[in-house]
Amino acid sequence: MHYPINEMFQTIQGEGYYVGTPSIFIRLQGCPVHCRWCDTKYTWECNNQDQISYEKIIMKKKSNRKWSYINSKEIILIIKKKKWTAKHVVITGGEPCLYNLLEITKELEKKGYKCQIETSGTELIRCSLNTWITLSPKINQKTLDTSILRANEIKYPVLKEEDLFYLENILKKIKNKKNNLIFLQPISQNEEALNVCIKTCIIKNWRLSIQIHKYLKIQ
Ligand code: SF4
Repeated sequence: MHYPINEMFQTIQGEGYYVGTPSIFIRLQGCPVHCRWCDTKYTWECNNQDQISYEKIIMKKKSNRKWSYINSKEIILIIKKKKWTAKHVVITGGEPCLYNLLEITKELEKKGYKCQIETSGTELIRCSLNTWITLSPKINQKTLDTSILRANEIKYPVLKEEDLFYLENILKKIKNKKNNLIFLQPISQNEEALNVCIKTCIIKNWRLSIQIHKYLKIQ
């Protein structure tokens, strides 16, 4: 299966449960959700005129709208050619669950990688059983019940206190599921949002996710 790849790079995971983990990021093109504060607006549209060669994606130094169809075997070949050493692979977007990720997650696992998918939960999640699912529900979007139940962690973006109502509704659906990992993440390093997140995490015994890559100014 071919996937529309926007970029691939190796860095440190800056968010959620795996924060600090050396990771290979595979960013897929396409997202119909269109959050106002999205950091990766360049991934939204999958336009034919932005399609470039496999080789150019590998050489890409700057994030932009260009993308290329690359299959699972080629993805693994790129990781090998680049001599990347991380054993954790983050499949992100855009909205990666627009695509069937079963093949790529299984192929990566066969090679010894741990896979993580970062999704808004608005599309059906199709991947290996061992894949770690980071669900990042978006306010005013329909988060699928199947995504809520499959999530290994919920990483919820917060701008203001009222945003927490939507999360509470989601959590009602998994109230009997023990050991849920809930992270609150202030949007765009906004100070008011950070204060709401810190206060709520302390009251609820949830965790804070602060996108350390942005503070470290790394990719
Ligand atoms: S779901 Fe993610 S990629 Fe899509 S618009 Fe929202 S933040 Fe951006």
